[in-house]
Amino acid sequence: MTVRHPAGTVVDALLDSAERTPDRLAFHVIERSEDEFPLSYADVYHLVAQTVSGLTAQGIGAADRVIVVLPTSRDFLAVYLGCLYAGVVPLAAAEPTGAGMSHYTAHLRRLVEHAQAKRVVTAAELADSLAASLPVPVTTPSALRHTPLPLDSPRAKPASLAHLQATSGSTGTPKLAMIRHGNIVANVRAIAEAILGRADDTLVSWLPLFHDMGLIGISYALHARIPMVLSDPVNFLRNPMSWLRWISRHRGTLSPAPSSAFHICARVARRRPPKDLDLSTWRVALCGAEPVHESTMREFQTAFGPFGLHETTLRPVYGLAEATLAVTISDVTRPYTVDHVDTEAVVARGYAEPRQAADARTTGMMCVGPVLPGHALRVVGPDRTPLPDRTIGEIEVSGPSVIDGYLPEPGDTTTATAEDQLKRADGHLRTGDLGYQIDGELHVTGRSKDIVIISGRNYIPDQLERFVETVTGSPRTSAVVAVGVRDETLHTEQLHLLLDERLAEGRDRQDVTGQVSRALSEAFGIGGVTFHWVPRAQLPRTTSGKIQRHLCRKMIEDTGGRTQRAAEPLSRRA
Ligand code: ATP
Ligand code: MG
Repeated sequence: MTVRHPAGTVVDALLDSAERTPDRLAFHVIERSEDEFPLSYADVYHLVAQTVSGLTAQGIGAADRVIVVLPTSRDFLAVYLGCLYAGVVPLAAAEPTGAGMSHYTAHLRRLVEHAQAKRVVTAAELADSLAASLPVPVTTPSALRHTPLPLDSPRAKPASLAHLQATSGSTGTPKLAMIRHGNIVANVRAIAEAILGRADDTLVSWLPLFHDMGLIGISYALHARIPMVLSDPVNFLRNPMSWLRWISRHRGTLSPAPSSAFHICARVARRRPPKDLDLSTWRVALCGAEPVHESTMREFQTAFGPFGLHETTLRPVYGLAEATLAVTISDVTRPYTVDHVDTEAVVARGYAEPRQAADARTTGMMCVGPVLPGHALRVVGPDRTPLPDRTIGEIEVSGPSVIDGYLPEPGDTTTATAEDQLKRADGHLRTGDLGYQIDGELHVTGRSKDIVIISGRNYIPDQLERFVETVTGSPRTSAVVAVGVRDETLHTEQLHLLLDERLAEGRDRQDVTGQVSRALSEAFGIGGVTFHWVPRAQLPRTTSGKIQRHLCRKMIEDTGGRTQRAAEPLSRRA
């Protein structure tokens, strides 16, 4: 383990590092301007001390909530860590994306009300427009910078609330997970143990800080006392290969990303092979947040193996905000593994029967590894009893990373029974995700809400979507969404496919849908499929790029479900 001075909270770890190793690099921040700012622990201490002083001067104190709408920057670090020190509870929220400011401010107002926030902290450029439409004062990081106060009595304690983490909003309105300091330390410590964290690691991340995968990176670096190269996500979006260049240049050893980022880089590298890239220092690439596909891992390995990427670097993981971040991490000492199973057995019996043949009847299920040390995981059936290996059921998890609740909506007196309330079964969190185990290693198949049930057969949407992408020869991932819609006359669900119009690029749409219908009927026995063409890049997604199936379903229902004609386009109504 890397941790030399186990700390009660990440604030303790920061203060300790600032005292013992003030000149060591803590963060190398690459801001949206692409200007770079190395910060030593002493620099970070100073920024935090200024902000703590400003928070106090503005009357913002322990347990107050603050919404932080900032790009990845020195300002973000100052405000976020200043809040943690002062016991103020930050909630990092996405910035407006350009389209629909009134939609954005309505969303922010709901967050302010839900969190009962005392302030919104945002960049000067946004402050005035947000102030005009929010019921609370809006302030800026510079207004929060006052003459530094000595940081000698942190309010952060293991049991106190550290921050609020909004879930991604894949299945509905995001919930606000209450993350305590103890949850954070438990999770980063367990991750460090699982990935054999080292004192000479360097973490590289461009992931948005309003998501747990990005935000917890800061705590990981502070707790493990390793430097973190921290870039604004916009820099990755502008030029995805910069991610790999930062790893190469800073000799990064740890760098996580959602599976889609690996896909994008592999595609870019195929078109324009990079030069002068050295990925040989990269030890662990945690890859999760959405289904991890074998094809993505393979194409990334093929593209970057020649640049020194080790076979053991790509590490599929599984996690969720309700467990702070990570739940399982695959074994870092061996290449990732894929379990090839019989599609028919999965659909008809919920059983992952091994099958070697590489044909259409075989589905590859990525192994996401064992549960983190100090935590427990089980896969259970509808009666909540643990299932044997290879039988698909709901994933339940327990341990010190698991939160004790969501922040209730103000005035909500029904939280104990509300559907959004954290669901538990004898001390285990019910994740709502389905999967199976083999010798203590997990394979995630999808969310239980999303399963398409046609005449008693359970289809995994991800499996159908990948199948359609393969049949149509689509080079994209996430160009297809499979949704089950109940048909009351037939007393079963029917399969609806939403297709990004780019799937038919250069082809007749009727040919594409005809080909897909035939293939689905042959491979799965599925008939009566309804197709919906969606304008390019209009499939509803979360800010992290995950498909929002509940909005897909709503799009279909709003347009009359089965009566939708195959060639008629749907437009986004989110
Ligand atoms: P919401 O809870 O608001 O509907 P969300 O569940 O997407 O959104 P997060 O907590 O950010 O919010 O994401 C966790 C979820 O992401 C998991 O519950 C799981 O469904 C999915 N997920 C994470 N890792 C994987 C993985 N390796 N394979 C498949 N799905 C994954
Ligand atoms: Mg969730």
